[in-house]
Amino acid sequence: MRGEMDVKIGLECHAQLLTKSKLFCSCSTDYHDAEPNTHVCATCLGLPGALPVVNERAIRYGMKVALALGCEVQEEIIFYRKNYYYPDLPRGFQITQYDFPIAFNGLVRIESDGGDGGKEREIRITRVHMEEDPGRLVYIGTIDTAKYSLVDYNRSGIPLVEIVTEPDLKSPKEARIFLGKLRSTLEYLGVFDGDLEGAMRVDANISLEGGERAEVKNISSYKGVERALSFEITRQKNLLRRGLKIQQETRHYDETRGITLSMRTKEFEHDYRYFPEPDLVLIRISDRKEEIRREIPELPDEKKKRFISHYSITMEHANSLTYDINIADFYEEVASKIDSKLSAAWIADVLKGELNYRSISMREASKRISTDDFAAVLRYLKDGVITERGATEIIRDMLDRGGGKPEEIIKMKGLASIGSEEMEKVIDKVIKEYKKGAVEDYKVGKKEALNFLVGQVMKHTRGRAEPKEVRRLLVGKIESEF
Ligand code: ADP
Ligand code: MG
Ligand code: ZN
Repeated sequence: MRGEMDVKIGLECHAQLLTKSKLFCSCSTDYHDAEPNTHVCATCLGLPGALPVVNERAIRYGMKVALALGCEVQEEIIFYRKNYYYPDLPRGFQITQYDFPIAFNGLVRIESDGGDGGKEREIRITRVHMEEDPGRLVYIGTIDTAKYSLVDYNRSGIPLVEIVTEPDLKSPKEARIFLGKLRSTLEYLGVFDGDLEGAMRVDANISLEGGERAEVKNISSYKGVERALSFEITRQKNLLRRGLKIQQETRHYDETRGITLSMRTKEFEHDYRYFPEPDLVLIRISDRKEEIRREIPELPDEKKKRFISHYSITMEHANSLTYDINIADFYEEVASKIDSKLSAAWIADVLKGELNYRSISMREASKRISTDDFAAVLRYLKDGVITERGATEIIRDMLDRGGGKPEEIIKMKGLASIGSEEMEKVIDKVIKEYKKGAVEDYKVGKKEALNFLVGQVMKHTRGRAEPKEVRRLLVGKIESEF
């Protein structure tokens, strides 16, 4: 197609690692519900003279991430000081990595419809390194209108793993798909929780037609990355159309307005005066590599393949069930108790929709519905005790009330399918009632009149009949009357 833009996108993704303590001190990382500035010490406040001590588990988690992304883990790592001043960084430098990061050269496969028809695409990973999170600035209002801001150092020193991609992504949508895959992989590893606020923050770099790139800093939601990049494409296209040059610059994404704003011209590496952190020694990591590789569990791609072959489910269902490790686990347990295809359909198509609607995670939902109860609902459905509508209602009820047993809900809400005798009575009644109207219409060939009659039967049975069955019985009765 004419007019296709050459778009290059590269992401720098910062993911918080789920260690118990911070990267260089023993303060707790469990800060999300804590009062501001209560999880702090001399080290993570950056007070003069306080010395860092490396958290071994954080390095192990970083290595795990690198290995899972197919990277080459290095022999040894060195921490560096990256010098800059900002109120969330009172020490005046961030401890991060530079020439000797954990790993280089990885690869992530994504399924993308980036113009090539749902093909698999390979996104190269440039490097994976560790760094500490700075504190958190809280703006009163938005970043460019706030009269003042507050600072909370609870986050200061939380271990981050930074994953940098090559500029291989071709659209905002691909960027979102990539981030979804990354999130999924990190959660499989058990080192990351994407539901926590601010758990993943992304700097998104984008250039058009081989021009200079803009770097949109610190985007904190997956949707935000896609929107900020779409906005950038429009902005940069407009500049190019007017014959103007794109400046290499750093921009800020305003989440509420969905636009990016210029912050400053791009900073360069020499601006940061990187030098090795003299308070930490070089760390040899290569001798732990194989041990950590063995700890890597089955990852999303492998799980998907296994689900398709082992449970004979569709690619769509396998995709949908393996994105979230908690849903995958839930599915496998349900499928061990009852028909694997039926379970796949009810978890991927029904349960996931109900979770989205309520904005709750599978982890939360599994406290409300056990796999035993879910399987029981499907068993009642299979045995014709309840209808599909009844099954959906039970699932909704369990999610909303946080529990309850399927058999009790069936009784309480009167969801048991009606027996064949009762059904026949209702059908006879409806046929009699609409003899002059819909029934006659149907007989003279207005087939759509049947929908009305089915609707009437459903109304009288309050949904306790399967519409397909009602339709079959109605047609049989009416036609036998000829
Ligand atoms: P810096 O650290 O100065 O931001 P890097 O060279 O480390 O620069 O690149 C950071 C990110 O920018 C990487 O994700 C990379 O893929 C991306 N990037 C580099 N060149 C381009 C480009 N021309 N267009 C889009 N993204 C780019
Ligand atoms: Mg950058
Ligand atoms: Zn501390």
